[in-house]
Amino acid sequence: MKPRIVVLTGAGISAESGIATFRDSGGLWEQHRIEDVATPEGWLRDKELVNRFYNMRRKQAAEVAPNEGHKALVRLEEKFDVHIITQNVDNLHERAGSTKVLHLHGELSKVRSTVDPNLVYEVGDRQIAIGDKCEKGSQLRPHIVWFGEAVPAIEEATRIAEMADIFMVIGTSLQVYPAAGLLHFAAADIPKYLIDPNADEVAGVFNLTVVKEKAGIGVPQVVDALLKSPSLL
Ligand code: NAD
Repeated sequence: MKPRIVVLTGAGISAESGIATFRDSGGLWEQHRIEDVATPEGWLRDKELVNRFYNMRRKQAAEVAPNEGHKALVRLEEKFDVHIITQNVDNLHERAGSTKVLHLHGELSKVRSTVDPNLVYEVGDRQIAIGDKCEKGSQLRPHIVWFGEAVPAIEEATRIAEMADIFMVIGTSLQVYPAAGLLHFAAADIPKYLIDPNADEVAGVFNLTVVKEKAGIGVPQVVDALLKSPSLL
């Protein structure tokens, strides 16, 4: 059986593809306040604005391409059982070719019913309008976990993290819970890597080997080392 590598990714892995991270945007997200566009209260206040914001992000995500960081994780599957747990709502891991990707915070390419959360629809890069309804007649909303909402995929993510033989964290500030807590579920004695150009603050907390590089450089470096390391195979 191949050793299991669990990879937790955040906005930083998509930065070099041209998608802005959340931390780097100074409290504003594409010129909007987070509470206006990424909370259930924001949606209730102004559905037009929130819908327009996600239409724009959906279009942007479809126009960019996976970078060397996403691509390196695909190569890792040659010798490892790779499970990606991503906080990202773009689909750049899938478009690069990774086969096991769990989205903790939802997906831009999907929308769902506002009366039945199980009614989820794939829309690709299509624009949604206020007035577009699910089969039960309710408004469609982005299939995104907003701040303050439950994270339904966290239980599956926890089970995946517990089984890790190696853990990699890429491009996340580890400030958004419960995602950041996943590291606590990995066994204490397994190798753990953090690839992030601004990694200082969190490294000590989780006892990680820090690679202070952008994902496009740091991920291929760690992947090459793991693929070469006979002790891990
Ligand atoms: P974050 O914005 O809080 O942190 C981004 C991290 O990426 C920082 O630690 C930063 O140092 C690092 N970083 C910046 N450029 C990098 C690069 N080139 N290579 C590697 N690392 C780099 O993001 P987060 O921790 O993912 O949490 C914020 C929330 O925002 C998440 O819930 C996520 O869903 C959402 N978000 C998603 C996307 C996306 O889908 N691409 C984009 C922005 C925000």
